[in-house]
Amino acid sequence: MTTLTVTCPVTGSHIGDVPAHSPAATRDAFSRARLAQQSWSTTPVSQRKQIMLRLHDLLLERQAEFLDIIQDETGKNRGSAFDEVLDVAVTARHYAHAAPRLLRPRQVRGAVPLLTRTHVERAPVGVVGIIAPWNYPLSLALSDAIPALLAGNAVVLKPDEKTPFTALLAADLLAEAGLPDDVLQVLTGTGPVVGDTIARECDYLMFTGSTAVGRELGAIAGQRLIGFSAELGGKNPLIVLPSADVARTARGAVAACFANSGQLCISIERIYVHRDIADDFIPAFVEATEAMRIGPGHEWSTDMGSLISPEHRLQVEELVSDALSRGATLLTGGRALDELGPAFYSPTILTDVPTDAHLFGEETFGPVVALTIVDSVDEAVARANESPYGLNASVWGDVAEARRVASRLKVGTVNINEGFAAAWASLDAPMGGWGQSGVGRRHGDSGLLKYTEARTVAVQRGVALSGSSGVPRERYAQVVSTALRYGRALLR
Ligand code: NAD
Repeated sequence: MTTLTVTCPVTGSHIGDVPAHSPAATRDAFSRARLAQQSWSTTPVSQRKQIMLRLHDLLLERQAEFLDIIQDETGKNRGSAFDEVLDVAVTARHYAHAAPRLLRPRQVRGAVPLLTRTHVERAPVGVVGIIAPWNYPLSLALSDAIPALLAGNAVVLKPDEKTPFTALLAADLLAEAGLPDDVLQVLTGTGPVVGDTIARECDYLMFTGSTAVGRELGAIAGQRLIGFSAELGGKNPLIVLPSADVARTARGAVAACFANSGQLCISIERIYVHRDIADDFIPAFVEATEAMRIGPGHEWSTDMGSLISPEHRLQVEELVSDALSRGATLLTGGRALDELGPAFYSPTILTDVPTDAHLFGEETFGPVVALTIVDSVDEAVARANESPYGLNASVWGDVAEARRVASRLKVGTVNINEGFAAAWASLDAPMGGWGQSGVGRRHGDSGLLKYTEARTVAVQRGVALSGSSGVPRERYAQVVSTALRYGRALLR
């Protein structure tokens, strides 16, 4: 069997090798998953809930192991790695408590009051395929698997080629928490082989990654008529209103733009600052950015780590050089930090980025933000809405005004006086993208219910709704029409 080599982006050292599974091996994994799912789906939800609560506890207990491997595979700083542990723990807790309520058969209003009793049951779809990216290798693997498993599905999960060990360790932890064999399988391998086979075998596909791959997988899901959710790219805007608190906004914008080295689908890549506050905000933002502590290591003291690879850094560098060569102005950063490692890049603020520069509209997925001064709130909203993406936005200033702005933005989440974390961590609310940022939602009730099929069961008593053989058709029509006329105001 061929293998994939995993390298630490900070040191260039070899972490280990994992199998590059074949299409046949992937199909075998589905056969095992289908068998395991049969008994898992009959396991009471109360037991599935206990497993997820144990996962929550074990993850917090063994977090140091996870932080180390996440950092080694991705190069991110320890604080960003901890965000993943936190996210998975609270997701496990949230859905463990929500699942019994969501999966209980629900009585709904029947066709005819008193005569029709209708309820809706929820059945698992079967085997859910999850294809995950490298930027949050724990979070984006497990936080979608948790609701799928709680709903009674088996899961076949493909981590990114660069970050398989985090997902493999997470699978061990789920086994330790009590998940039976083969209910969750991590299948390492490449996208075009293992990912493609998963898309062709699974009963529901959850994908997080680039818009280009999302489109290809959506076409496969469409052909197969299976459910599909995709969390894709973003070019997320942040608006600074004149009423914003300058110091707080500057600090918040640093986290919003540069957390996880900007390799975060919901991080900010565009800032629109109102002219009335620009002279105060811009120097404060530059100063806060330059104060960031960047570096390698497992300590908690750094604010930003490395990018995922030297190749990705090169792409970021090229986007910045392209913008500068077309007339953009560099306010800070714009430099490869070779003294720290082969994939470090300084947090970078550009302004006057012309519309023909690639990074004007394309996702950078790095620590780079384009800042633009606007003359009005209307202009800020119009510019923010210019992108074909629609994932996340952030608005800073007086809350009442910011709420009015939020309601005009064409995005899946808006954070007021926060960059991205408030909406993301509101697990009871749906999260996902408009436009080219995706289809479907994670989080919220729909984040679990999407992994189920609804079965509506209706019991009819007394009169048959399709018309009684003893009543002439015309008479039946008259009675029903009269009932509808009287019922119009009463029944909603
Ligand atoms: P990518 O699309 O190249 O890879 C993501 C996953 O898809 C990997 O596991 C990869 O192996 C797999 N894959 C690649 N080609 C495939 C194919 N032909 N068939 C099946 N699977 C395939 O994404 P990337 O560049 O590694 O990740 C960064 C992107 O992910 C960014 O665009 C980012 O915005 C997006 N992202 C979105 C979210 C979100 O929640 N919206 C979260 C994180 C990342």
